[in-house]
Amino acid sequence: MIKDDCIFCKLANGIFDTNTVYEDEDFRVILDIEPASRGHALVLPKKHFANALEADDETLGAAMKLAARTGRALKEAFGCDGINILQNNGEAAGQTVFHLHVHVIPRWEKDTVQFEYKKNSFSDEEMKATAADIGKYM
Ligand code: 5GP
Ligand code: ZN
Repeated sequence: MIKDDCIFCKLANGIFDTNTVYEDEDFRVILDIEPASRGHALVLPKKHFANALEADDETLGAAMKLAARTGRALKEAFGCDGINILQNNGEAAGQTVFHLHVHVIPRWEKDTVQFEYKKNSFSDEEMKATAADIGKYM
């Protein structure tokens, strides 16, 4: 349930202090210590999962619902123009803390937040083959 060497287990379960936005039996929503923007929140399950790919469906569904609820609260609180809900899985994908968490980031028309990637292009044939390759494992 709780992993001894996991900082987010300690934050989620109230062992370490946090700026808590919301708490229930299964989750805690806290402010990110290095926010991308004011109000940047993290949805943390109290139970340890390394990331979304390791978590059970019930936890994942509840985490997404809670992220949307947090987004609505942020809109009410700050009147932001948009909300990014994002979640990283694995070091190569930018994950730095290996306990499932969902970022909820308030956005304004002119803010300093940046998520960038170079857009690629594949032929129709490559796209069809790619979809089929993935589909085999669904
Ligand atoms: P990741 O890169 O794994 O998706 O996101 C980890 C997030 O956790 C980062 O945005 C980072 O600022 C935040 N973070 C790391 N350590 C702490 C901490 O001790 N307290 C809080 N509130 N946030 C943390
Ligand atoms: Zn943990």
